[in-house]
Amino acid sequence: MSYEAVIGLEVHVQIKTRTKMFTAAPYVYGAEPNTLTDPVVLGLPGTLPVLNHAAIEKCAKLGRMLQCTIAEQCKWDRKNYFYPDSPKNYQLTQNEQPLCIGGKVEIELPGPSRNIEGDHRWVQLNRIHLEEDPGKLSHEAFDTVIDFNRAGVPLAEIVTEPDMHSSTEAVAFLNALRNLIIYADISDCDMEKGQMRCDANVSLRAVGTHLLGTRTEMKNLNSISNVKAAIEYEIARQTEILDEGGGISQETRRWDVESSSSFSLRSKEEAHDYRYFPDPDLMPVVMNPQRIEQLDSQLPERPLDKQRRYQSDLNLPYTITSVLCPNLQLCEFFEAAIEVYPSPKAIANYITNDLLRELSDASAYGESSQILSDCKLSPTHIANLVKIIDMGVISKQIGKEVFTEMFNTGTMPDVIVEKKGLKQSSDSGEIEALCREAIMDNEKAVTEYKAGNIKALNALKGPVMKATKGKANPAMLDDLLKKLIDNA
Ligand code: ADP
Ligand code: MG
Repeated sequence: MSYEAVIGLEVHVQIKTRTKMFTAAPYVYGAEPNTLTDPVVLGLPGTLPVLNHAAIEKCAKLGRMLQCTIAEQCKWDRKNYFYPDSPKNYQLTQNEQPLCIGGKVEIELPGPSRNIEGDHRWVQLNRIHLEEDPGKLSHEAFDTVIDFNRAGVPLAEIVTEPDMHSSTEAVAFLNALRNLIIYADISDCDMEKGQMRCDANVSLRAVGTHLLGTRTEMKNLNSISNVKAAIEYEIARQTEILDEGGGISQETRRWDVESSSSFSLRSKEEAHDYRYFPDPDLMPVVMNPQRIEQLDSQLPERPLDKQRRYQSDLNLPYTITSVLCPNLQLCEFFEAAIEVYPSPKAIANYITNDLLRELSDASAYGESSQILSDCKLSPTHIANLVKIIDMGVISKQIGKEVFTEMFNTGTMPDVIVEKKGLKQSSDSGEIEALCREAIMDNEKAVTEYKAGNIKALNALKGPVMKATKGKANPAMLDDLLKKLIDNA
């Protein structure tokens, strides 16, 4: 029998706020364990939560970025469970009335090759609710230890509809979601730091049927490649069970990176197991429609909209926009450069080829976007470089050399050109002599050119360029060679 996979994702994102969800204790990643706590975080008797409005604001902004409806009113529920990562023995979350309802994310599926744009489609969301992050348990050799620094950090849980059908779609979704969140400045989405975490729900159904099959939920997927591997593993596992006439049991499974397989953790709990009830200490939150309008007016352009605009308005090819647009910092750098000198294509080429190459050479590890802010090159450097090439001050070839020098030293291109004497030579006397020499030395190329093979001229240009160290003006060289041969 052939099956269709059905996939729904639950993505937890830590919202970048200075302080925690219900208290003024600060949060920064990597602090000494248990130093970012206070009586509220530790759930001491007599403490009361105080709402962090910045977290509500940012989550609502995230919701609008993902095209959700913002609820007129949302409220807080206690999700009761006993586990050492939660000192209160309940988690404050939004069960009945989440802040954001519905929503959708545009994804791009891989094209037939990296240079060709793939199909686009929308993945429907169910909701986004706010909750507090629990503490972090680590299992050491003989002990389990707990760090409450993370406890109480505002967490947005983005829940999709069961609307994806392959690991490829899930990966495309997570990449698109990550870009949207970074663009809206909600989180840096560094999965290694736990800023973005994903659970994957997978079920199968016979092709052509519409009822949902029994699902399993995979946890501990701390990278996009783990999500992909876990979904593929689960589809294969369920297919085998169903083919043998067995049934899928609804359970929570844990992905094990070492063995690239998952194992059952527990049978899936149901909502009623948690004994949700409204938190008596927190008031419902009412969202003012004007506030939402204001948020809408401050939303950044979405990454795929930007990509379409770059392609249609700036005439950039997909090969360039697909490198630029997933990286907000690169786009900001690019836009600042074209403000200085409006030559989008040449500037984008320098950024996506030369700059990215130098950045990855400069650091074999880490994300290029992080290194960009420490780099000595400013948008003005690249704009000015393209400008002096357009003006004919230097050739494109010399431009590459100037680029590397600019990148290493932070010196402006005109200063480098002046200092190193790289100005394109238009000294026709010198160049003419070199051309005559080249013509005499390359009879074969001259004959071929005369026979109509224009490309044969390249064999003559080479030696002249070499002798002038690339400084001969290419257009002038072309004219001169043709004239000399034609008039000979
Ligand atoms: P919980 O996991 O907390 O019980 P939900 O029932 O709301 O929450 O579902 C969580 C996720 O599981 C959602 O992303 C939803 O799309 C997905 N999901 C629900 N049923 C199925 C199914 N039969 N197959 C695949 N995914 C499913
Ligand atoms: Mg779940």
